[in-house]
Amino acid sequence: MIILVVNTGSSSLKYQLFDMDKKEVLAKGLCERIAEDGHMDYKAGDKTVFDKDIALPNHGVALQYVIDALTDSEYGVIADMNDINAVGHRVVQGGHLFNKSMVITPEVEEAIDRFSVLAPLHNPPALVGIRACKQVLPNTTQVAVFDTSFHQTMPEESYLYPIPMEYYEKYQIRKYGMHGTSHRYVTERCVELCGKDRSELNIITCHLGNGSSITAVKNGYCYNTSMGMTPLDGLIMGTRTGTLDPSVVSFINEQTGMSASDVISMFNKKSGLLAVSGISGDVRDISKAAAEGNHRAQIAREMLLKSVRHFIGAYAAEMGRVDAIVFTAGIGENDIDLREKVCGSLEFMGVKIDAEKNNTRGKETEITAPGATVRTFVIPTNEELMIAIDTEALAGE
Ligand code: ADP
Repeated sequence: MIILVVNTGSSSLKYQLFDMDKKEVLAKGLCERIAEDGHMDYKAGDKTVFDKDIALPNHGVALQYVIDALTDSEYGVIADMNDINAVGHRVVQGGHLFNKSMVITPEVEEAIDRFSVLAPLHNPPALVGIRACKQVLPNTTQVAVFDTSFHQTMPEESYLYPIPMEYYEKYQIRKYGMHGTSHRYVTERCVELCGKDRSELNIITCHLGNGSSITAVKNGYCYNTSMGMTPLDGLIMGTRTGTLDPSVVSFINEQTGMSASDVISMFNKKSGLLAVSGISGDVRDISKAAAEGNHRAQIAREMLLKSVRHFIGAYAAEMGRVDAIVFTAGIGENDIDLREKVCGSLEFMGVKIDAEKNNTRGKETEITAPGATVRTFVIPTNEELMIAIDTEALAGE
């Protein structure tokens, strides 16, 4: 089966075409600066065929260029657009309605639209992508894969906020969690690598990238996660605060006159590691400056380590037993020093990693040392593959 995976942002459209029978990525690329000056790249297999500025007035035009490239007689990878059996879309917010991926019916589309209020930066572009695909590929099954669905197994004591219940009942204000497709992918890989039934495993999955979240997976299913109603909560991130006292919002408002939404925007875009280091939100830049003796970069890095330890410790206590810890995403897969320092402080709970095995980047590796009672893994995430697997399963039904 041939599956096109589409991940639409407000001005971008990432795509990957999978041949599920051969388990191969046939082509992939990115259309960016849509409705601005426009840029597109296209790789067939591992080879970049083009990487060029091109007018992309809207997502529909971008998608048409993607289809044109995929079916091009010279460098295309399929003969005809009807060879695409189904399209899988990444959708950030599925609210409380979707605990699994769904074929996109008018009702599902309407619900994605309704949940835009909870993910105003993410759901509207996903809908634009879905509608563009419907137009360009009208007869092809479309599937929505929600970032929130993996977290729908959280119990009430994890997802409810301790505020008057009417806010939950009337406005569905609660913890939803994000990065669910990534947490699910690495959980499933970890279960396979452990060779046990998922119900026997308590796992802590650490998705550490520009946006970061940590999830407690109890008996194979999500029990708690560090992001909240929005992706602002939890760990300190590249430009996001993570958890802080909400009174800071009204205090800044009273002191400076900044509106609540401007303060939240500052918390999302100008805070976190960027604000503390004063240099960058990129962990590579921060680590380099810290190694050169920059004090603020050193604090930023310490805050990141502390934040990761904090959630692992909390979730270990909440679950009562941990069988495995997984590191994934840009930082989790690549930052050898972070894994060493975080795991080094978890020896009291049976975590012990092997320095040589830990000397790895972006490769699926078990880094557990002899004598550990908790297994530790580096598992590169693959959200696109997870979306393709779900899409294939639903399109085949
Ligand atoms: P996104 O959330 O945008 O998908 P990524 O998962 O790509 O982010 O992660 C980006 C982060 O990964 C950046 O902070 C970057 O510094 C970090 N990163 C990437 N490569 C390395 C590396 N070799 N060592 C340390 N950190 C890295």
